[in-house]
Amino acid sequence: MNETYIMPDYEIVRNAERCVRCMACVRLCANGAHIFDEKRGVLTADDSKCVNCHYCVANCPTKAIKIVRSDHCFKPSANYTEDVIKDIYRQADTGGVLLSSMGTTKSYPVYWDKMLVNASQVTNPPIDPLREPMEIRTFLGKKPETVKYRADGRLEAETHPNLMLKTPIMFSAMSYGSISKNAHIALARAAEELGTFYNTGEGGLHEDLYQYGANTIVQVASGRFGVHPAYLNAGAAIEIKMGQGAKPGIGGHLPGSKIGEDVSRTRMIPKGTDAISPAPHHDIYSIEDLRQLVFGLKEATDYKKPVIVKIAAVHNIAAIASGIARSGADIIAIDGFRGGTGAAPTRIRDNVGIPIELALAAVDTRLRDEGIRGRVGLVAGGSVRSSADVVKAIALGADAVYIATPALLAMGCHLCRSCHGGKCNWGIATQSPELVARLDPDVARERLVNLVTAWSREIMEMMGGMGINSIEALRGNRLMLRGIGLTQKELDVLGIRHAGE
Ligand code: SF4
Ligand code: SF4
Repeated sequence: MNETYIMPDYEIVRNAERCVRCMACVRLCANGAHIFDEKRGVLTADDSKCVNCHYCVANCPTKAIKIVRSDHCFKPSANYTEDVIKDIYRQADTGGVLLSSMGTTKSYPVYWDKMLVNASQVTNPPIDPLREPMEIRTFLGKKPETVKYRADGRLEAETHPNLMLKTPIMFSAMSYGSISKNAHIALARAAEELGTFYNTGEGGLHEDLYQYGANTIVQVASGRFGVHPAYLNAGAAIEIKMGQGAKPGIGGHLPGSKIGEDVSRTRMIPKGTDAISPAPHHDIYSIEDLRQLVFGLKEATDYKKPVIVKIAAVHNIAAIASGIARSGADIIAIDGFRGGTGAAPTRIRDNVGIPIELALAAVDTRLRDEGIRGRVGLVAGGSVRSSADVVKAIALGADAVYIATPALLAMGCHLCRSCHGGKCNWGIATQSPELVARLDPDVARERLVNLVTAWSREIMEMMGGMGINSIEALRGNRLMLRGIGLTQKELDVLGIRHAGE
């Protein structure tokens, strides 16, 4: 689209001495940012088309390209910043809602970075994770509320289906359609190798991926795309998506251009039509309605699969979670507002919801206060960026975390924030066959396995430092956290003390 008044954000700088005119950049850029002007015999660029995805930079054989932030500038203003002005121009051009990809770019507090982890020193000494066994296996789901002795002395407990994770890290929902089949294959194979789970998102399950069912969480969203009995029974757990952190209160929209033959068959919708999932589930207007769907799904799967309810982190999250824990759901997944997205209205992404850290702490506190924490497993997602964030999430009360953006980065994503355009040069957020082919699912699988393995090792190191050898002992153990530079109110919500106390 030709944007009136808007200067390009980035500038393509080509080192003429290094360039050997191989034309790889011209051939490879899906956005057409590199141009060979045949008449003049000149290699040039259209900066306005560059999304700063670094694909040309990575594939230039002589490293002749660099992308720099354009130094076109507006008169400085703390109020009408460059971004504010450009957004107004864009909307004046189109009359449309602004769309964005990936998480918010606004500088809201990142509470992970305002919490510090404890370490043992003299008493309760640290544990060396290289020499001592460390347990990070996690059982995710409802726990028995009562344990009785039978007359013969054997234990009797009401058991519920749980997911067994070899590491407390799962790949969160990304639908087939929003990401490519090769990306899904990589996630599925990595989950299988790691002994964890990936999540179909709301796009159904491609027939080629049924073989990874034991490591798959199948999602049921408001659009019910691709939902049928075989799909529900194919996965190890079923997730009802009530909300998403990046766009609370909003449904989903996958443009018709991304609904090719395969995606259309998997989603069970006509080829080329927009896949619009409504904001609400049209059969859920209360916890009782949610309970009906939870038990409908359990009935359809013979009570063998845990049911997850995924909600966006919003103001009254603790009360909502309390209701969900009483609805019969086995697991609650909370998605914070800094989480990623394939496409979200920019204003929603940047202004709606609350940070995952505060939401998670509030939910864990409320469920413990009400004596129902054991009724559900808790999963936190929406901007978990490192193993330290995982440790802090578990100490705040999570059983496990969901990661998506780090998984995409591991596969090659360069966070160009253009997923909604469907032209991902890295073969991830696209359905274009020639772009999809750029992502080798086995290379991506290996990189995902490496990432989660590295994080798992770091988690064990941090646990060892705290003198803890089982992740069970870290869960909700907020004594292991201290706040730094936080107000008393923030400390109270997080349920932690300040550093030095
Ligand atoms: S890929 Fe690099 S060497 Fe090849 S034409 Fe482009 S800038 Fe020149
Ligand atoms: S997935 Fe692709 S389009 Fe989306 S941010 Fe990453 S590199 Fe850009």
